[in-house]
Amino acid sequence: MIRGRCPICGKSFETPSMDAHPGFPFCSDRCKLIDLGRWIDGSYSVPEKVVEPPPEPDAPADVEEE
Ligand SMILES: [Zn+2]
Repeated sequence: MIRGRCPICGKSFETPSMDAHPGFPFCSDRCKLIDLGRWIDGSYSVPEKVVEPPPEPDAPADVEEE
């Protein structure tokens, strides 16, 4: 018996074998599809490092209007 815990809904489940549970490690095909959808949406992708452009040297830092 293989015990698994669905990474999507957190539900614990048991299966006699991997073959008997094609959706492993998900509890059901539904959760498997949700996971697949997340990959497609890019939710799991590593966010790109945001590089802020350096401030322009000629730009006045503080302009006080009088
Ligand atoms: Zn699940």
